[in-house]
Amino acid sequence: MTVTTDKPAHTDTLFIDGGWATPHSSSRIEVRSASTEEIIGSVPEADEADVDDAVAAANRAFADTDGWSHWDPSRRADALDRLADEYEKRAEDLAQAVSSQNGMPISIARQLEGGFPIALMRYYAGLARTNSFEETNPHMLGGTTTVTREPIGVVGAIVPWNFPLTLAAFKYAPALAAGCTLVIKPSPETVLDSVIFAEAVVAAGIPAGVINIVPGGREVGAYLVGHPGIDKVAFTGSTAAGRTIAEQCGRLLRPVTLELGGKSATIILDDANLDLATIGENLFGATFLNNGQTCFLGTRVLAPRSRYDEVVGMFEAFANSLAVGDALDPATQIGPMASARQRDRVEGYIAKGSGDGARLVTGGGRPSDLDKGWFVQPTIFADVDNHHTIAQEEIFGPVLSVIPYGEESEAISLANDTDFGLGGSVWTADDDHGLEVARKIRTGTIGVNRYMVDPSAPFGGVKDSGIGRELGPDAMHAYQAIKSIYR
Ligand code: NAD
Repeated sequence: MTVTTDKPAHTDTLFIDGGWATPHSSSRIEVRSASTEEIIGSVPEADEADVDDAVAAANRAFADTDGWSHWDPSRRADALDRLADEYEKRAEDLAQAVSSQNGMPISIARQLEGGFPIALMRYYAGLARTNSFEETNPHMLGGTTTVTREPIGVVGAIVPWNFPLTLAAFKYAPALAAGCTLVIKPSPETVLDSVIFAEAVVAAGIPAGVINIVPGGREVGAYLVGHPGIDKVAFTGSTAAGRTIAEQCGRLLRPVTLELGGKSATIILDDANLDLATIGENLFGATFLNNGQTCFLGTRVLAPRSRYDEVVGMFEAFANSLAVGDALDPATQIGPMASARQRDRVEGYIAKGSGDGARLVTGGGRPSDLDKGWFVQPTIFADVDNHHTIAQEEIFGPVLSVIPYGEESEAISLANDTDFGLGGSVWTADDDHGLEVARKIRTGTIGVNRYMVDPSAPFGGVKDSGIGRELGPDAMHAYQAIKSIYR
């Protein structure tokens, strides 16, 4: 499937058990371009009977005596490498599909949605080849003990719309390496890319039932989470949905990994280089990436009072310099919000910020030259109090709040004065000192003078930002059950 704005892409089948299955209901999900608001495609919406079929297929693929979970890890690694190759062949189509649906600028979609999953698949293929899945040691009280790391079972993976392909790969790449099978539920806003991904799965010769895809909304998601045939849940999305899923998994004693929201700090120290020509690209990745629709962004900018006006002026110039436009235009840096609902939400927060007394420095409205698409101007608020709603709740749009601080210790306590703890960054001329400050922030990940996720290092949050880690070797362990055999 190729998603283009002039030729909508419609499919009539669901990807279940290695083939294209006729859905049980006639209900469909229609997707509009975030940039043009036109319909660009549709897929069938999975219902509970479809989820039953998908879970049954994933269980058969898992339990089959010569099935996926019993394959030698190096054979699974070869299959993951083939999937990476097939994905790579479709990378441009995948990037365009995401960009058209959720408004991610195509230049970013090519790098992240088109590229990052390939790196992840190859990384976990490598780990499957080199990792020890079994270890035998002397038993402390005599004899020997063999400890095996077995695949945990069938995974229910629930994915949001902001990085639909990358966040799915955060789950299936380590899960497949570990020997698990999956039922993936994409978000209704971004379902077309999952059809292209399924085509890659078929072309790579991944056995039937190892990956199944059930597009649908939260009801379908909730049904999948509670399904008796699911052994582990992996979720990325809002903290509110994560809480509901955690409650459900708690009752079922079902292992769950939760990657949730954030309200991270961009800490500008008093010696920081504020020259946009040198720091602009790194600063963009830490504050505005993907139109602000990124969970780890440092949307609270903490600025020293000694340089407050300079920092506010730099962010004003930065926001005004960003090219806002159609997500498929390679020159675009800020595209539209993923949906009308998301734009309304962001505009609601902007109104709340002004209402609470923050000073609107730039932006705050819709771009006057774009009459179609769910656009919001890059927006900077100054004189924000850390307890204002816009400084405490995840906005998920191109909106930054600049908050003043006195001493560095105050910056650290402000950075930590939040319910979240997912990302953040420290900006300083002294890298060693930046590391010192980074150590004091209660967060799962943080950068110094940049923020770039490392596929080989754990990613995740503390506090309301989630439970568990994705990426790195730890992520594969999260899809394994450990067994001790005493002899
Ligand atoms: P959401 O959390 O409601 O949806 C994310 C995914 O979870 C979707 O696939 C959805 O269908 C599914 N889902 C929702 N409730 C579920 C439930 N109870 N059980 C199972 N699955 C469920 O997010 P949203 O409504 O699309 O966006 C709302 C806000 O969430 C955004 O404005 C943003 O602040 C935040 N968000 C965060 C991330 C992130 O990466 N941390 C991603 C998307 C949205």
